[in-house]
Amino acid sequence: MQELTVDVVTIGAGGGAYPAAFRLARSGSRVVMTDPKGVMSGNCLSEGCVPSKAVREVAQLYRRARAGERMGLHGQLSVEYPGALAHKRWVQDLRYRQHAEELQALDPLLRLITGEAQLLDPHTVLVDGPEGSWRLSARSVVVASGSDITVPKIPGAELCLTSRDLFALEPTLLAVPDTMLVVGAGYIGLEAAGILHSFGTRVEVLEMEDQILPGMDRDFAALLAANLDPEIQVRLGSRVQSVEATPEGRRVTYVREGKVHTAEAHQVLMAVGRHPVLPPGLAEAGVEVEAGRPRVNHSLQTSVPHIYAPGDVNGRSMLFHSAVRQSLVAAGCIAAGDRAADHFDFQAVPTTVFTFPEAAYVGLLRGEAQRQGFELHESAYNFEEDSRAQILGELSGELRLFFAPGSLRLMGGWVIGVDAAQLIGEIGVAVAAGLTADQLARFPDQHPMAQEGIGKAARRLV
Ligand code: ADP
Repeated sequence: MQELTVDVVTIGAGGGAYPAAFRLARSGSRVVMTDPKGVMSGNCLSEGCVPSKAVREVAQLYRRARAGERMGLHGQLSVEYPGALAHKRWVQDLRYRQHAEELQALDPLLRLITGEAQLLDPHTVLVDGPEGSWRLSARSVVVASGSDITVPKIPGAELCLTSRDLFALEPTLLAVPDTMLVVGAGYIGLEAAGILHSFGTRVEVLEMEDQILPGMDRDFAALLAANLDPEIQVRLGSRVQSVEATPEGRRVTYVREGKVHTAEAHQVLMAVGRHPVLPPGLAEAGVEVEAGRPRVNHSLQTSVPHIYAPGDVNGRSMLFHSAVRQSLVAAGCIAAGDRAADHFDFQAVPTTVFTFPEAAYVGLLRGEAQRQGFELHESAYNFEEDSRAQILGELSGELRLFFAPGSLRLMGGWVIGVDAAQLIGEIGVAVAAGLTADQLARFPDQHPMAQEGIGKAARRLV
């Protein structure tokens, strides 16, 4: 057993851990990150956001090029999935190399130990890995062990693919199937459905709730549903009960409106969500866990003030960029001697669903405001009138801003359509900064880009 005393230990080396680790090491703290992967950046780079968007971008290029025929683009256009996977791998390898260099540059203040970590007590972390066992003592601990794919306990679940099979460093799905059933119309299921459909798969999605994107705003989800490619069949209210193997592929049994149905496809993708992963020993360290997640305050402190739980592990906002900001909040508090010196705004986290078209939202929307008992002022901008949407020939969708009555402070917004993932960034900054319709209206948003819609929507109210 090797022993080491440092200032900070992180459990995990993903988005919840490494921004804090780097910030603290750069200001002179001795920091150790631990992760069984032995590399930085967690599930986002190994099997999540980055590889899925790399494959999606190929699908996007192909879709736009095909639509470009009427703009004079000609030639034999085809796309092959292995090429998209090779691109994905190139991006992953590049980013891993860059991260290794960043880590090297901070040696010896910051190091990464490969292995599974567990808490022995509030200041001691034990790591077991290929380099042996370590007993690490630290003043502060960052628990950022992330999340994992949820697989429901139904017969035949093991016959299904998950997003890991599609996007891991070594994916198991190397060619797209002719037909695919996707279980779950959350963002992962819908994104995968859109990608596979673009590569030529016939896709059907089964969702047990009565809306797509369960848990997200109903009106936002309905608007995206209306703009999705009708070739992707989405069956709502369909609860999958079992999956079995057939000579050709898979048969799924599901219940819809009280009746049992079956559907067949070459493959089934299980995409019913993700759940936090807790390292062993939280109880020994005195960290309170509620409904499978460590309880945290807005400074990401657990019930033990020097133990933090930023990122997916707390289950409150399971997105990489949210984890990064949460991690930096934790770093600020650690630097201040484990005081709640910084705070995370869980309200202003942009969320994008990378379907075709993209759909994104941030902040307070109409439905939640009504639940809280008040109405928001709305202003919408339709992409039919947008120059960028017209240039791309993608006219569907809208941008909608929600303002507080009286002050006309921007509270939230959604974008469904062209460049939604980009636009929600500007809207998110405005929400976080508390800008008013008047302030937004005075900003010269760029022409001929879709950002214009933000200024135009604001000007309609002032
Ligand atoms: P987040 O964005 O919330 O940080 P990530 O997926 O980016 O989530 O990172 C979580 C990382 O934590 C993953 O790389 C995972 O391998 C690692 N991890 C999970 N459990 C442990 C553990 N017990 N000890 C060390 N690392 C862990």
